[in-house]
Amino acid sequence: MDGSNGSTTQHWLTLARHTPLGILCDLDGTLVPFASTPEEARPDADLIALVNMLAKQPGVTMSVVSGRPKSWLEAFFPSPSVFLVAEHGAARRGMGAWENVGELDPTPLDALAITIEQLALRHPGALLERKQTTVALHYRNVPRGRRGELLIEAYGIIDTFVARNPSFERLEGVLVTEIRPASVKKSSAVPWIRDLAGASPRLIAIGDDVTDEHMFRVASATDESIVVRTAERRRTAARWELDDSNEVRSVLRWIHGVRAGQTPLPVVLPREVRQPAPSSVAASHDLLVVSNRLPDLRHVEGDDGERKRSVGGLVSALEPALRSRGGMWLGWSGKTVSSSEPITTGIAEQDESSGVQLAWVDYTESWYRNYYAGFCNGTLWPLFHSFPTRVEMSDAGWSAYREVHEAFADLAAPHTSSRATIWAHDYHLLLFAHVMRQRGHKGPMGHFLHIPFPALDMFAMLPWAAQLMDALLDFDLLGFHTPQHVANFLSCASALLPAKVSDDVVKHRGRETHVTAMPIGIVPDAFQESPEPAVVEEIEGMMRTLGDARLVLGVDRLDYTKGIPERLQAFGRMLEMFPEWRGRVSLVQISVPSRADVPLYAEQRAMIESIVGRLNGEFGEATWVPVRYLYRSYGKQQLAQLYRSAAVGYVTPLRDGMNLVAKEYVAAQDPEDPGVLLLSQFAGAAVEMQDAVLTNPYHIDGMARDLDRALRMQRDERKARHTKLLATVQRSNAVTWAESFLDALAACR
Ligand code: UDP
Repeated sequence: MDGSNGSTTQHWLTLARHTPLGILCDLDGTLVPFASTPEEARPDADLIALVNMLAKQPGVTMSVVSGRPKSWLEAFFPSPSVFLVAEHGAARRGMGAWENVGELDPTPLDALAITIEQLALRHPGALLERKQTTVALHYRNVPRGRRGELLIEAYGIIDTFVARNPSFERLEGVLVTEIRPASVKKSSAVPWIRDLAGASPRLIAIGDDVTDEHMFRVASATDESIVVRTAERRRTAARWELDDSNEVRSVLRWIHGVRAGQTPLPVVLPREVRQPAPSSVAASHDLLVVSNRLPDLRHVEGDDGERKRSVGGLVSALEPALRSRGGMWLGWSGKTVSSSEPITTGIAEQDESSGVQLAWVDYTESWYRNYYAGFCNGTLWPLFHSFPTRVEMSDAGWSAYREVHEAFADLAAPHTSSRATIWAHDYHLLLFAHVMRQRGHKGPMGHFLHIPFPALDMFAMLPWAAQLMDALLDFDLLGFHTPQHVANFLSCASALLPAKVSDDVVKHRGRETHVTAMPIGIVPDAFQESPEPAVVEEIEGMMRTLGDARLVLGVDRLDYTKGIPERLQAFGRMLEMFPEWRGRVSLVQISVPSRADVPLYAEQRAMIESIVGRLNGEFGEATWVPVRYLYRSYGKQQLAQLYRSAAVGYVTPLRDGMNLVAKEYVAAQDPEDPGVLLLSQFAGAAVEMQDAVLTNPYHIDGMARDLDRALRMQRDERKARHTKLLATVQRSNAVTWAESFLDALAACR
């Protein structure tokens, strides 16, 4: 038995023994697993025997309720004791004879079928299936990255057809789109089988597809409905669920055994469906947030020490909007599955405390390699940070980048109303508006880039630069951290596309995209609250090891963009240039492990460790360690306490989109005796934080002098600078940032 408890077993035993019992069972995806083509998905001898056995059992009315044509069903189930429903209810065979249901004129479909056939011929893998009363376009075999192109064309044709022929409708199945008479639904099979079954019947309806939901919805309180879960967990009207056609067959075999008086132990029984909370009907979210990483709520596994901390800040920023607008957050689960497995996706229940409903995609190993480690972090990350020599490029990376966007859009589209607001984040999701527009999304879509946007000479290195730029212009609003990033973007757009570019709008293909600089902020309170005593004790313990030396603090992910080797060298240079600091200052460098499996990052780590060793060897004394290097991460409270203890916040990335550590350091200072922020002029934060001591991280001597100056700064100057910096950090915080972005996005329409 499969974890079913006693009362579930009893429930199903009572049902299985009930006479009369009617069974309505969908075929494809329910009794027969999906195959590459509809032709290959055939009922096998074992299944046919099982259906016939049930049909012949006294008190059982067994029916197969399918979208397939009559001839297909009849070929496998010739026995008149099996009741058949073909083409979603358009025709049915009871007592051996077929009858048509309702008055239908399928002739308009003839012309449509020809057009769709021509379309299918242009898209390798696409397949037209013509039935008596419906036309189906199967796209299971169309490569993921190509489905969007096919569907946008197909929907154009079909929607025009439906507008002219309102008695037909388009219905989405599992990787198939079908045009069929609107009046015909599988739900018509339910009262039919109820009548055929005899007095006071109980029914079991089983199916996997959205067309089967019509059956589930009309089932009565004494009936049972079972949904067979495909990879995607949509909201369902069914009460029970099973995983696949093998489980369906096991249950049917068990029912047969029970009625035959064998009382076999169930191998598997249906499990109660876990629905999303009623307040979060998954079909109609008004706000969809999409980012590579999901916020750290329930149901999310795995961590690679990646940009998850930044996502944490994003959650606080977006929570008010998500809560008030019934929002969903879509991203990678953090889990990687074998590339041979089908794509797995999921939707969690709405999180009550944050109001966020999570939806996620697991990455295949090949996506992890080619999309995440490849195109995102091997191509876009170094390129956008202007490190051309570190850029790796491959066709496989670009193709995986497109595939992952398709997978995200496949999951997002059914759960987002076509007018919903969509906000996509960062370099992982630059094509998201494009794939959503292909799926007919009409609502406002915005993107915020959390890293720099490079100048044209860098961006143009990308073989797919024009395509990427073209796709970005499917967004209504593009947000960047700084005016320089905006200027870079605009010059790339005007150089690469026949677009009309003005100061803050790009016009292209009849669309308008607004472009704006909107620097992200932090939640300052988080760094101003009094820490727990244990945290104070921990950090005070660390400070005691420094003795009387003042603290210079560096905090970064271990990334080559952060300029950690240069920072260490400048610290050593300062000790040479100003020997009076020896024994009187110590540098604590916290480096959070990141992308440790990538050789480039491992090299960076080794280089940092060797510089630390050299400095400590050269300058260290029995009572003084010049550099303490901590390869680990700390919680927010520990960081806040460390920031407060530091005389200098030493934040010197070679290039950074924003740099939140700079803002956190300012927020955490004691206003009466603040430390000094020594900030790289190449961090996005420098634009707003001109009252920091700005430094050039490429100029080691200059940085050493700037560090000396920061250490010598008198309290009055420190306070004056800090007051202005703190006002900026308080004013331009994470929540106002999110609100401003969403307001600007709404204003675009
Ligand atoms: N951080 C953390 N624990 C640590 C070190 C850093 O939570 O031990 C957080 C830090 O508070 C900041 C983020 O990591 O919010 C780093 O953001 P930043 O913009 O500085 O750099 P990124 O890692 O996004 O490039």
